[in-house]
Amino acid sequence: MPQPGGWRGDPVWLAEVLRAEGIAVVEFPGWRRRGHGVFEDVRGIMVHHTGSNAAAAESIAHGRPDLPGPLSQLHIARNGTVTVVAAGVAWHAGVGRYPWLPTNMGNWHTIGIECANTGTSPTAPHRRNWPDAQYDALVAACAAICRRLGYPAERTIGHKEYAGRAQGKWDPGAIDMDVLRRDIAVRIGVVPDGGHGAMLLLRGATGPQVAELQRRLKQAYAAYAGHLRIDGVFGAKTEAAVREFQRRTPGLTVDGIVGPATAAALRLRVVNRPD
Ligand SMILES: [Zn+2]
Repeated sequence: MPQPGGWRGDPVWLAEVLRAEGIAVVEFPGWRRRGHGVFEDVRGIMVHHTGSNAAAAESIAHGRPDLPGPLSQLHIARNGTVTVVAAGVAWHAGVGRYPWLPTNMGNWHTIGIECANTGTSPTAPHRRNWPDAQYDALVAACAAICRRLGYPAERTIGHKEYAGRAQGKWDPGAIDMDVLRRDIAVRIGVVPDGGHGAMLLLRGATGPQVAELQRRLKQAYAAYAGHLRIDGVFGAKTEAAVREFQRRTPGLTVDGIVGPATAAALRLRVVNRPD
């Protein structure tokens, strides 16, 4: 359902960030305004299977008579297409607990990803009945979101890890969450170039990695970045400073976006931990 008012902590950047990751993205009409309320803060990602290989994004967007949609923020089809269904709060988590979540509040603090999959069975081996395209899109989406939020791969959990005890949930089935998190960590960019390969910071970004960028600019380039406030919000002034740095550095595109090349040229320290 459409939600009135603003979108405080809503991940309205989802489509842009997923596309930058190379994912095939479909935007459900009006997704930025859809939700059961706005996010205060997004603390992580929760992965689900829909229970059916054929479950379409529309079923996640609209929900059911007893449970109105959106039922999650993202839907991943078996061909790897990711539909952005909502930016606001969605009903996917229900009751449960996890160390970095307030009890029973998963919906208000996690981005839900529903994958069109039967889950096979609670004891099925990792990736049984998970097409490569779907699994790869899941890994890429989780990595892109974690990177955007400055979180490590550990911030991706399964519904079964949150609600296994409380609700008897076993989704996502045929997904070993530890293996998934390892794959996400690799994708986030624990790579030999110091992590810059995974860097993508642009206007609107927030978090510790942005604060680190501002600190670096302010300290090393005081002539034009000395006035920056280290507030972790990538606004107009941060963008202007990035552009100035790019203008003065041979070989960089002047676009105000901190991608791998600009990050490496800045010798930007990669922040993997949110705290
Ligand atoms: Zn679930």
